[in-house]
Amino acid sequence: MLRLATNESPYGPFPAALEAIADAVATIQRYPEPDTALVARLAERHGLAPEQIALGNGGDAVIGYLTAALTGPGDEILTAWPSFPTYVGDAEKSGATPVLTPLRPDGAVDLDALRGAITPSTRLVWVCTPNNPTGASVGREELAAFLDAVPEDVLVVVDEAYCDYITDPGYPDAIAEHVGRRPNVAVLRTFSKIYGLAGLRVGYMVGPAEVVREVMKIRNAFDVSELAHVAALASLDDAEELARRRDVNERGRIALEATFAQLGMQPFPACANFLCVDVGDGRALAGSLMREGVIVRPLDPFGAPECIRVTVGTPEENAVLTDVLARTLQPR
Ligand SMILES: *Cc1c(COP(=O)(O)O)cnc(C)c1O
Repeated sequence: MLRLATNESPYGPFPAALEAIADAVATIQRYPEPDTALVARLAERHGLAPEQIALGNGGDAVIGYLTAALTGPGDEILTAWPSFPTYVGDAEKSGATPVLTPLRPDGAVDLDALRGAITPSTRLVWVCTPNNPTGASVGREELAAFLDAVPEDVLVVVDEAYCDYITDPGYPDAIAEHVGRRPNVAVLRTFSKIYGLAGLRVGYMVGPAEVVREVMKIRNAFDVSELAHVAALASLDDAEELARRRDVNERGRIALEATFAQLGMQPFPACANFLCVDVGDGRALAGSLMREGVIVRPLDPFGAPECIRVTVGTPEENAVLTDVLARTLQPR
């Protein structure tokens, strides 16, 4: 089976991470070391204090901690939609009300719509950029203008799970540009995507120290495994591998866009490692592709039943997908 449904890296972990895991594996009878080394390294990298960083068992877990720490019944959590379903699921788990706003026509988060939906009950606002599942990112100036306009008692969390894939310098780096300068902005990052460590579960947030403290109260003991710690640390040393992956992903995404265009379909503009395409009936096409051995994501759970999301694979995988799509779809 060709798995193009969950936006993982097709290239596996970085070589240095594999080595670090192999070295550490013989001692996993021990509980993990504290987060200190990875937190210190991330703090240095982002020019922030260690008190501004919280690791978690995947970015997904951190979304849950933030939601549980900051919200409860009577509170509103704001997100554009379609976007990452965990924001909504976790809001419901904590008894808060998820409030959904439409995306821009290009699939990026519509910051004006978000801003217009803020009420005195809003506690938390998610800005997923590039947005999963559509793929487009908000621009630098518009993000800054939006953050200027949000009341200071509302926390905005910018989810940058895919930031490492971006090549266009017009898109913001919300850690460098906003965290530390603003009391109400946090950013989420993960090692699951370009770093190829989805199975190990490690992600992190950076933000105001008070928010980090609240998250750490909620978090489970030994939340991040030792193998995840060492693999994440080792991955951060290999800027060349990161750049290589970014580059090959971009070329693959452009080629896949051309494939869909040839089949008469226009994917949403994208800058990460996936494409969102309106195919009429997402579940039907995903089913047909599955019978041909290719798994893609039908987007009905994301609120877009007419679409599928396809992860950019290796050039060989992309060629297989192109073949199967051409066989499955009639040009229209
Ligand atoms: C993948 C992803 C995450 C985090 O994934 P983890 O594997 O839990 O670290 C967060 N947000 C978005 C939008 C994602 O696509």
